[in-house]
Amino acid sequence: MSELCYQLDLLKAMNQKLNAKERMYRLICDSVDNAFLYYAFDRDEIATLGKWDDFFDFEVTEVKDIPLLFDAVEETYIMPLRDALFVEKTKKTSATVECMMKDRRRWMRFLVNVIYDEDHRPTDKVVCVENISKLKTQSDELAYMAYYDGMTGLYNRNYFVRLLGDLLRKAEEAKNIVSVMLIDIDDFKKVNDGLGMVVGDELVQQFGSFLKSFEGDQVIVCHMSSDVYCMAIYDPVGSRSVEHIHKQIHKRTQEPFVLSSGQSVPITVSVGVAEYPEASTSALELINCAEIVMFKGKGLGKDTIQYFDTPILNEFIHTVEIENKLREAVFQNNFIMYFQPQYFTGTRKLRGMEALVRWKDGDDHMISPATFIPIAEKNGAIIPIGNWVVEQSIKQYAQWSEQYGVHFVMSINISALQYGKDNFVSFLLSLLEKYHVHPTQIELEITESILIDDFEGVSAKLRQLRDCGIRISLDDFGTGFSSLSYLKKLPIDTLKIDKSFIDTVLTDSATRIITESIINMVKTLGFESIAEGVEHEEQLDYLQQVGCDVIQGYLLGKPQSPEEIENLLKRL
Ligand code: C2E
Ligand code: CA
Ligand code: CA
Repeated sequence: MSELCYQLDLLKAMNQKLNAKERMYRLICDSVDNAFLYYAFDRDEIATLGKWDDFFDFEVTEVKDIPLLFDAVEETYIMPLRDALFVEKTKKTSATVECMMKDRRRWMRFLVNVIYDEDHRPTDKVVCVENISKLKTQSDELAYMAYYDGMTGLYNRNYFVRLLGDLLRKAEEAKNIVSVMLIDIDDFKKVNDGLGMVVGDELVQQFGSFLKSFEGDQVIVCHMSSDVYCMAIYDPVGSRSVEHIHKQIHKRTQEPFVLSSGQSVPITVSVGVAEYPEASTSALELINCAEIVMFKGKGLGKDTIQYFDTPILNEFIHTVEIENKLREAVFQNNFIMYFQPQYFTGTRKLRGMEALVRWKDGDDHMISPATFIPIAEKNGAIIPIGNWVVEQSIKQYAQWSEQYGVHFVMSINISALQYGKDNFVSFLLSLLEKYHVHPTQIELEITESILIDDFEGVSAKLRQLRDCGIRISLDDFGTGFSSLSYLKKLPIDTLKIDKSFIDTVLTDSATRIITESIINMVKTLGFESIAEGVEHEEQLDYLQQVGCDVIQGYLLGKPQSPEEIENLLKRL
C-alpha cells in the first residue's frame, strides 16, 4: 500500500513538474505576438500555441488539418508555404517564407525549425508565425518612394534616369534610337500664384496621368519636378514617334483641365527633344540637352516643340562661357562707360547722352552689351553692373557739368530687375545728393517689358520718380507689346522709336505710316520723341520733316569713350 502511495505521489510530483513546464511554455508563447505550431514526429501530435486564434479562424489539431493553412494564403504562396512547412523532406533544419493572406491585406512570415536525432530522423518541428503586414507596407512604401513620385504616380527622376540608362544600353546593342522629350507647363507659376498651390498640384496630377497614358513597353514617363515631366521613347516610330505624341499632347491642351473644384484651367506646354545617340550617349546629358532646347522654345514664345541640334548646343556653351566670365568681370569690375550724344533735330544742339556700358574682356577685346546684358539679367549680375552704371553716369555728369559748364540730359538704361528692387528710388536719390546733380538732368530708359507683370505698381513707382524731377524715357518703342492707347496712361517724358523703324522708314510705306502716327501721338500727349539708330542724312531729313524732336545715331555720333566726349564738350 505504501508502495502504491509512493508511486502515486511520484506521479503527482512529475505531473506537477510537467504542468509547470507547460505553463511556462504557454506563458512564453502567449507573451509574444506570434502564433506557434508544434509537431512531434514520433507521436504524430500537433499543438498550436500563442496568438493562433488571433491569426487564424481554424484549429490545426491533426496533420490532415495542415492544408487549411494553404487555403488561408494567396494562391501564389501555396507552393512556397508547403515547401517550407515540410522542410524535413529536404533534410534541412529551417525554412522561412513570407505569404500574403487571402484577404490581401495581411502578410505572415512562417519560420520553420526541425530537430533531428542522431540517426538524422526528424523528432520535433516548430512553426513560428509572425504578422509582418506593417513591415511589409513600410517597405513597400519605401520601395514605392524609391521608384515613384508620390504626387503623380509617375516614375521619379532618379529611377527614370536608371530606366533610361537601361534603354540606352538596349539601343546601343540593337543600334536603335531613343528620344527624350522634356515637357514643361507654360506659365505654371501664374497658376500657382493666381489659383493657389492646391489647384497647381491637382493640375500637375491631372496632366501627369494624361502623360501616363503614353507609357508602355517602349515608353517611360517621369515627373521630374514641379511642372516638368520627361518621356523616353525607345525606337520612336509610328504611334511612338515624337511628332505623334506631341500632336496628342497638343490636342489635349486645346481643352482646359477641369479640376475637382470645378475650375477650368487652360494650359500650353513647351517641349524639348533630344535624341540618342545624336545629342548624347548619356542619360543625364540627354535630359540636359532636351531641357536646353525646351528653354530655348520658351524664350521663342512657348507652346512649342524644339529639337536639339548643334547650333543650339554651341549657343548654350557660349552663354555658359559668358556667364562664367561675367562673374569674374563683376568681381574685377572690368566695365567701362561709353556715351552716345543725342541732338535736337532742328537746332542740332546737344540734347543729352545715352550712357552705354562696355565690357572690357582683355586689352582690346570688348563684349557687346547686346550679348551680355540679357545673360546678366537672367543670372542677376545686372544688379551690381546696373548699380555701377548708375553711379558712374551720375558722377560723370557731375564732373562734366562742373568742368565744362554744360547742362544736358544723362540717359541711363535701367533693367526690369534693377527697377524692381525696393530700394531703387532711395538708391538713386542718394547718388544725386552725393554728386550734387539735379534730378531733372537724369533720365531713366526703361522698356515696356517692365510693365508686363504689374502695370499699376510699376506706374506708381514711375510717378514717384517723376515727382522727384527725374525724367522717364520709354526705350525700344515698337518692339514690345507697344500699344499707343496705353501710352496715355504712362507717366513718361520721352519715347524712343526703335532703330528697326528707322532702318526701313524710307523704303517701307507701312513703317512710314506707323512712325508718323507714333510721332503725332507723342506730340499730342506732350512727350518728346527720339529716333534711335539714325545712320543716313536722308533719314534725318525725313525725321525732321515729320516732326521728330531728337536724333540719336551713328550719323551724328557713335557711342564714345569719356575722353572722346570731352573733346566734343570742349568744342561746344
Ligand atoms: P539700346 O538701349 O537700344 O541702346 C542703343 C544701342 O544701339 C546701343 O548698342 C548703340 O550703340 C546702338 N546704336 C546707336 N546708334 C546706332 C546706329 O546709328 N546704328 C547702329 N547700328 N547702332 C546704333 P549697345 O551699346 O551695343 O547696347 C545694346 C543694348 O544693351 C542697349 O540697347 C541696351 O538695351 C543694353 N545696354 C547697354 N548699356 C546698358 C546699361 O548700362 N544698362 C542696361 N540695363 N542695359 C544696357
Ligand atoms: Ca537705351
Ligand atoms: Ca533702344
